[in-house]
Amino acid sequence: MKIVLLGPPGAGKGTQAKSICNRFSIPHISTGDIFRNHISKRTPLGIEAKKSIDRGELVSDELTINLVEERLMQEDCKIGFLLDGFPRTVIQAKALDEFLENKGEKLDTALLIDVPKDFIIERMSGRRVCLSCGASYHIKFNPPNYEGKCDVCGSDVTQRKDDKEETVKDRLQIYHDQTQPLINYYKVKEMLSIVDGTQAINDVFKNICDILGSGNK
Ligand code: ADP
Ligand code: ADP
Ligand code: ZN
Repeated sequence: MKIVLLGPPGAGKGTQAKSICNRFSIPHISTGDIFRNHISKRTPLGIEAKKSIDRGELVSDELTINLVEERLMQEDCKIGFLLDGFPRTVIQAKALDEFLENKGEKLDTALLIDVPKDFIIERMSGRRVCLSCGASYHIKFNPPNYEGKCDVCGSDVTQRKDDKEETVKDRLQIYHDQTQPLINYYKVKEMLSIVDGTQAINDVFKNICDILGSGNK
């Protein structure tokens, strides 16, 4: 199963990605998590990416595409994968198609988690993340069992610097300008599926499972 998750920042991509990847036993590839990991380790890539991320801007296509292609070449992606946060531009989507085509493969679906703008600010201002394992929580909708600690790995959960309200507005604008066109890109290719992301976390997941089927792909 090869899936791309689409949706605005705060739609619930990361949250659903964890459940989907558990259910279908495929690796979860989140470009945001990979960048944050590089940033915390202060690698050259992290230092470069941080400049854009802190401003709410996108990291360059070239750097991002290279990173994802390298990841997709690893052994565990042979059975499939779920891409979360990539592609984010039409250039990235075309690069992904080409990369897969060269290997005689293609995506099964591009799954859009559809959430209107009105929900986004509250979701993002209450988001807390675990920098160790990437788990995502919400102070109101999905709090960790012990305040401030990750349920999965016990590390501290914190607010992302780019989840401040000012940066969120810029990110939404960038989503509108650069990422939203991907919805039509996949629609034209008859690869788009849409799930209503305004429901409770478990209900969204149930609908996603209905769309993806039994996982025998
Ligand atoms: P969210 O889950 O809120 O949508 P992510 O964790 O996916 O955010 O991404 C955080 C930041 O990392 C983005 O705002 C952007 O700066 C950078 N980033 C992540 N994925 C990409 C990508 N595919 N192309 C360019 N920049 C990216
Ligand atoms: P994305 O990866 O798309 O940016 P996240 O999965 O990090 O989004 O979710 C954004 C915030 O919204 C997190 O705080 C998360 O706990 C919360 N959240 C995710 N899905 C839902 C939902 N269906 N209802 C309410 N809150 C949600
Ligand atoms: Zn954790």
